[in-house]
Amino acid sequence: MRFDALTPTYLFREMEERAAAYRERHPDAEVLSLGIGDVTRPLAPCVSAAMARAAGEMATAAGFHGYPPAFGYDFLREAIAGAYARRGVTMEADTVYISDGAKTDAALLPRLFDGVTVYLADPCYPVYRDAHLLAGHRICTLDATAENGYLPPPPERGRDAAIVYLTSPGNPIGVAYDRAGLSAWVRYARQSGSLLIFDAAYAAYLPSDLPHSIYEIEGSRTCAVELGSFSKSAGFTGVRCAWSIFPDKVTFGGVQLAPLWRRLKSISSNGVSYPVQCGAAAALTPAGRAATEEHVRYYLENAALLAAALRASGTPFVGGTCSPYLWVTCPRGCTAWETFTRYLNERQLVVTPGGGFGAGGEGYIRLSALGTRDTVRRAAERLCP
Ligand code: PLP
Repeated sequence: MRFDALTPTYLFREMEERAAAYRERHPDAEVLSLGIGDVTRPLAPCVSAAMARAAGEMATAAGFHGYPPAFGYDFLREAIAGAYARRGVTMEADTVYISDGAKTDAALLPRLFDGVTVYLADPCYPVYRDAHLLAGHRICTLDATAENGYLPPPPERGRDAAIVYLTSPGNPIGVAYDRAGLSAWVRYARQSGSLLIFDAAYAAYLPSDLPHSIYEIEGSRTCAVELGSFSKSAGFTGVRCAWSIFPDKVTFGGVQLAPLWRRLKSISSNGVSYPVQCGAAAALTPAGRAATEEHVRYYLENAALLAAALRASGTPFVGGTCSPYLWVTCPRGCTAWETFTRYLNERQLVVTPGGGFGAGGEGYIRLSALGTRDTVRRAAERLCP
């Protein structure tokens, strides 16, 4: 393994240590965190009831479930296909693969490939980079900058067949591709023989007129796979359930990927527990969907509070309208860690330094709107001049 290739990712530990040291020096200060990417809203009652019911079944001879099917119970695969259908996308249930997290799938995906080139936005969700570095793959970065609206377009030169990650809306940059932006990537993938890996972990935050899935774009079924998650929509960060989509026709280098994915998943996991999959299916019922919409509205209202405060203080930022994240430009001449220290010392706020998401994140901090309303409201007051 190539652990030497990885840069140490002490970001969150370092943030915690610095915040803890501050608290020790200032025991009366109330430090608020806008740093975490974890949700705070409780599970929908229909979800917890479904999990409790399933746990009860497991305690009966008739309802006991042993190892789950390797790719997920049909009832959940069908419910996810149904969710795609509501967006006008026909997705066969047997192209849906259940897992315990989009992170698990993202970490596993590189093992499908040998000696490939990988295009990653910089900054991006760090798991993509680390997993491909461990696999010894060549990484090319696509700068996400103010000039391209933080949404890198396809490269104009070097049209090699590559693996390309697209995250929409993004983490850490809370902006999303529109139909034209994704169509350009699908065209690029088809012309170059590239594979798109579309991470839709935050799709629930998108307005209905933006694409929620790469399969809303024509031509994508031969060149794109997709990751989805219940974490940030139904509040499953602690429950753990996600899915990947591998349409049968997707190939890379002339090889059909779905059979390889099935093989890889069979080797690496014994599936996701029955109660968890029942809870996930409940999240897709009308009551579960209404609860998700309510969660998303709550977090987006949080984001609006933060955005208003940043605007009032003249601080440049993007995001927060179709994502729970706001990407904030550091004061001129200040590094991300210096800005972190200023926020902590001057406002008693913990924020995430952008450099932890890649070199292109230097000069920015990420604010998360996934906290409770009370925390966010008080944090917003401290952001105002
Ligand atoms: N993809 C992105 C872009 C994320 O930000 C995260 C989590 O923060 C994940 C995937 C992982 O999601 P899960 O909780 O399903 O593992």
